[in-house]
Amino acid sequence: MSILDDARALDGTGPVCDACLGRAFADRSFGLTNAERGRSLRVAAALDDDEPFEPTPTAECWVCEGECARFDEWAERAASAVEGVEFETYQVGTRTPPLVEENEALLREETGLDPEAGELFKSEFNREVGKRVGRLTETEVEFGRPDIQFLLDIEAGEVEATVNSAFVYGRYRKLERDIPQTEWPCGRCDGRGVLGADRECPQCDGTGYLYQASVEGLVAPPIRDAMDGSEATFHGAGREDVDARMLGTGRPFVVEVRDPKRRTVNVGPLERVVNDHAEGRVEVEGLRLATYEMVERVKELDASKRYHAEVEFDAAVSEDELSDALADLEGASIEQYTPQRVDHRRANLTRTREVYEAGGEWADATHATVEFHGQGGLYIKELVSGDDERTEPSLAGLLGVGATVTALDVVGVYGEDESFEDEAYFRDDRGADTDSDPDPDPDETEAETALETDE
Ligand SMILES: [Zn+2]
Ligand SMILES: [Zn+2]
Repeated sequence: MSILDDARALDGTGPVCDACLGRAFADRSFGLTNAERGRSLRVAAALDDDEPFEPTPTAECWVCEGECARFDEWAERAASAVEGVEFETYQVGTRTPPLVEENEALLREETGLDPEAGELFKSEFNREVGKRVGRLTETEVEFGRPDIQFLLDIEAGEVEATVNSAFVYGRYRKLERDIPQTEWPCGRCDGRGVLGADRECPQCDGTGYLYQASVEGLVAPPIRDAMDGSEATFHGAGREDVDARMLGTGRPFVVEVRDPKRRTVNVGPLERVVNDHAEGRVEVEGLRLATYEMVERVKELDASKRYHAEVEFDAAVSEDELSDALADLEGASIEQYTPQRVDHRRANLTRTREVYEAGGEWADATHATVEFHGQGGLYIKELVSGDDERTEPSLAGLLGVGATVTALDVVGVYGEDESFEDEAYFRDDRGADTDSDPDPDPDETEAETALETDE
């Protein structure tokens, strides 16, 4: 059968609109809409038969029941569903009415065509409405992870618009101790603030939180507000102990803003707003608009950490003993059984982690300041104390005296194999701007480079 015979057969099933007719031949030729294909075939058949040409009004089509005449209408409906929402990319999906799906199958079956001939109603709708949405809103279609996902529910006559989250990357420094990274609900009242019906929880004074401030609480709300979103979630590249500060390079994080109405916020002023809001307890730098994939990168990328610890000894230690012990730890593989202080619900296991660098300064017989650069996951408090021989070797074990960390700071977080700040994960072009160096202090930059060559 020739293509014209196929077209005649399809046309013979009842009134079939140009688009539904042409759709059965959607894989033929390029640069044509299905409606153009359908009309051309009808014209060619009329010429071939030398019969009068009779157009078929789309509204009378038994296959799509007239839906193929409504691309513009659906596009306008989609555009108005996201009025007031800023976006750059979108994707259109269509929920085909079951009846139309059946009709499409029936059309091909009755005429002996391949059941998969051409394309589906859904594909045409996605494309035709999609093109129009792009023109109306001056945005681009994106098949990966668009800013907006439209779902056209043809039968219900509704457009569902899902506004995907927006992401802001940065590094934070925590300048005060006793601030957890994320909000920490009170365990006694499960974050409700009350015990029983209405007795104020004495543990958290009715606030529902064990700590009144968190890095998340100080950083995320201003970003959520700048993007006019409904809520914000904080994703950190690991976390320091609640009582440890995070200084130096800062720690990479991503704030995810849900249902954002704005996406292209100016990160320079935003950084100042966040820092004002955090009132010197936490500060952020190097804010960039990031892609969805940055969340996983921040959570999964192997990172080494550099620590600075104040240490107290139970008995006298000489300057030489300290430097010998630190020299032994440098380059050592440390076996650590899950520390006693770690959540007992976590499975106990022995892990091995490297100490890349160990150094320090002896202050007096019972005090020192030590610095370690170690593989991610190394427990520093236990590296110093030995944790009742659960960590081996340890500073206390090598010295033969008790040793305790009295103050801990994380001063560097570095990607082991590559930097966190990969341009492929950013949505803005701040990287072209030399001011965006997240580590503008030349001393720190040199220290970081030196450390990396040591590994
Ligand atoms: Zn039709
Ligand atoms: Zn409580």
